[in-house]
Amino acid sequence: MGAEPDVVVWDVPLRTRFRGLTRRDGVLVRGDAGWGEFSPFWDYDDAAAVRWWRAAREAADDGWPAPVRTHVPVNVTVPAVDPAHAHRIVTGSGGCRTAKVKVAEPGQPAGADEARLEAVRDALGPDGAIRVDANAAWDVDTAVTRLAALDRAAGGLEYAEQPVPGVDDLAALRRRTHVPLAADEAVRRTDDPLAVVRRHAADVIVLKVQPLGGVRACLRLAEQAGLPVVVSSALETSVGLAAGLALAGALPELPYACGLATAALLADDLVSDPLLPHDGAIEVRRPVPSLALVDAAAAPPALVARWAGRLTAVRARA
Ligand SMILES: [Mg+2]
Repeated sequence: MGAEPDVVVWDVPLRTRFRGLTRRDGVLVRGDAGWGEFSPFWDYDDAAAVRWWRAAREAADDGWPAPVRTHVPVNVTVPAVDPAHAHRIVTGSGGCRTAKVKVAEPGQPAGADEARLEAVRDALGPDGAIRVDANAAWDVDTAVTRLAALDRAAGGLEYAEQPVPGVDDLAALRRRTHVPLAADEAVRRTDDPLAVVRRHAADVIVLKVQPLGGVRACLRLAEQAGLPVVVSSALETSVGLAAGLALAGALPELPYACGLATAALLADDLVSDPLLPHDGAIEVRRPVPSLALVDAAAAPPALVARWAGRLTAVRARA
């Protein structure tokens, strides 16, 4: 391997603003099993970033369990955009038959979510599946009303992802709506990811490899949860997405499309054969970083220094 580095810091622009971000940055680390991605968002502190580090080391040092399927069906993600834009995103999605639509964006006029869902239904046709993600924006009463309205506008919702914050609210809402509920933040940003299961607070759990500490950690969680799992990304490059695909590929059951079709949200990638959907599915494979592309995405010195500090702090806790 000679002079090739074992740690590189990268920094790439997003195509459109997402999660309040215009760029995505992180680190690739290399071990005996290949390259792993370490890219906790900056709003995760060092203690929380330890799990992301474990996921990167698992990829680099151990690799992942063998898959039981060759392809993973994926959803297209529709941000809180206008109806015409939403329609274009779905028709240009690489054949995705499931759409995840962001709703409850602050500052949007009444009816914006309904109009977006109608456009998505029009683009998908009657047999496509539509789920919504409210990122914990509502209280329980509001969620009861809004989910009924959005279910009508969408011509039926597959499920609603985290319409309310926390386990207590999910459990209360679940007794008052017929729309199935998926837990995301309530699984990912807690020390007790299975509380939602014990409390019968969700019908589906969303698992993300980096925030939950790796593919094997997620497989154990899935087994303990005994609920259907949707694997989603943390807006990674294709190096990190490969871990999500490894998890989705190794789950014994995969009844829902996964949220792994996010490579196209980045303007650049670190591999020459990115993990993009065709006919609504992504192949389970592990692309190798292109050193030319990694070089082209090299972070500026100040950002390299910032990541070096973070790596030191996180390794000290790992
Ligand atoms: Mg979510």
